[in-house]
Amino acid sequence: MTAVIVIGGGFTGAAVAIALSRRAQTPLDIAVIEPRVEVGRGVAYSATDRDHRINAPAANHCLTADDAEGFDRWLRQTGRVERDPEMAAADGSLFPRRSELGAYACLTFDQHTARNPSGSRLRHIRSRAMSLAQNGEQFHVRLENGEALIGDLAVITTSNEGPRPPAPFATDLSSDPRFLVDPWDTVRLKEIKRDGRVMLLGAGLTAADVAASILRERPHARVDVISRTGIRPTSRPAVTEPMTQTLWERLDSRPSLFEKLHGRHETVLGILRALRKDIATRTEKGMPWQPAFDDLRESARMVWMGLPFAERRRFQRHLRRQYDACRFRYPPQTKAILDSAEQSGRLRFHAGSVTAAEATPSGIHVTWRDRVSSEIQSVAIDQVINCIGLASRPDASDNPLLRAALHDGFCRVAPLGIGLDVDEACRAIGADGRATRCLFVVGPLSFATFGYCLGVPFIIDQIARALPEMFEALP
Ligand SMILES: Cc1cc2nc3c(=O)[nH]c(=O)nc-3n(C[C@H](O)[C@H](O)[C@H](O)COP(=O)(O)OP(=O)(O)OC[C@H]3O[C@@H](n4cnc5c(N)ncnc54)[C@H](O)[C@@H]3O)c2cc1C
Repeated sequence: MTAVIVIGGGFTGAAVAIALSRRAQTPLDIAVIEPRVEVGRGVAYSATDRDHRINAPAANHCLTADDAEGFDRWLRQTGRVERDPEMAAADGSLFPRRSELGAYACLTFDQHTARNPSGSRLRHIRSRAMSLAQNGEQFHVRLENGEALIGDLAVITTSNEGPRPPAPFATDLSSDPRFLVDPWDTVRLKEIKRDGRVMLLGAGLTAADVAASILRERPHARVDVISRTGIRPTSRPAVTEPMTQTLWERLDSRPSLFEKLHGRHETVLGILRALRKDIATRTEKGMPWQPAFDDLRESARMVWMGLPFAERRRFQRHLRRQYDACRFRYPPQTKAILDSAEQSGRLRFHAGSVTAAEATPSGIHVTWRDRVSSEIQSVAIDQVINCIGLASRPDASDNPLLRAALHDGFCRVAPLGIGLDVDEACRAIGADGRATRCLFVVGPLSFATFGYCLGVPFIIDQIARALPEMFEALP
């Protein structure tokens, strides 16, 4: 049987394995290497907190492109909406807990392991991949337990790295119990003092989740959120406009939706101007700005791939934060928790740069410069939590597989320094600048080629596009 090795069994790895088993013409032997107990959850959907919800409607989240409504349908048909009435937003769309998407992904993987359309063998190898070696057309993947797997095709889906401490905390402080590097460490989060003063570094969706948990579990705690720019995620419009096309049709529109509406632009400034004009027109008519932005978001791959490298770099340097703030939107339930805490004074947001942090008996003394007033502020904090997000530089990675793949030349760091370099079909580009026919990189690690592939719909769309090339590469 032709063998496929999927390295990493988070959401992306599960989706790749399931897609292969659904679409293969002949049975495959598909092994998913994943150290976690279950395949499908990864970092995002291992969440257990009841206030950690997906950040876009369930209807935009699916596991296979050929059953796009599957997750939303499953939630409605299995009584989950009744058990969690807060899940339904005012417009009826569902924002379940992230653990529900994890459960759905695991269940779907298990169902495909038991039975799948191609009769493929699907299995979970509970280990960590340490390195790759090529023998003719085949890949040997060495595992942590010393064993090796042989595959005709290998797909890396290990994604971005765990969070790292930012500069002033990357000292002895990183081992101080009052500084938490990993914001998803639920055990450590429970140790926060009931009336503690907490500071979150970073103001994105991770900070929103962590703040929501602390505000609920520690009714007398106060939370300060600090980020350099003060830019925060945005909200969904109060009323959503009906779409004439499905999300999947929008993602695959050719030319892209944005190009159809605004023509072709090869500079970031041109794109920004077109977007601003569209938003201004909508605002004048009293319409929400979000749909104008969504036309760009859903065209991101095509727009990005049409930009020269210097323009991509310009965007990363100057606009990425603003773009992400518009792109990442609070789930309405989380927004309501944060708004209420802000009004009561338990939650405060600051824009400024942390210049120093010192461990003292009375807490961690954090000093920062306010972005607007330039004033220096200093405060003693009981618990500082790193919410600045995942690390995206594979050359600084602790992951043995990535280190080895880079060292041995199977992969190279993408030109922007983010993730790994891949071609349009997601084939890994090696140190010699050539794509390897039977080695693929799918999911967030392929960010730099496509401009964005973090969200579920973008990952599923990417897999659907890469699948023909994967089958083509099989012997
Ligand atoms: C907290 C959080 C919330 C998010 N919420 C949403 C959301 O609501 N909606 C949305 O669309 N997107 C969301 N995202 C985006 C998210 O990136 C994707 O939805 C998706 O979960 C990415 O999954 P992944 O499998 O690519 O990565 P991961 O979840 O990181 O999984 C990678 C897996 O690879 C394994 N691995 C790593 N190294 C090795 C190795 N050497 N050998 C074997 N296995 C290895 C890891 O154990 C891990 O399970 C969220 C992201 C985060 C971090």
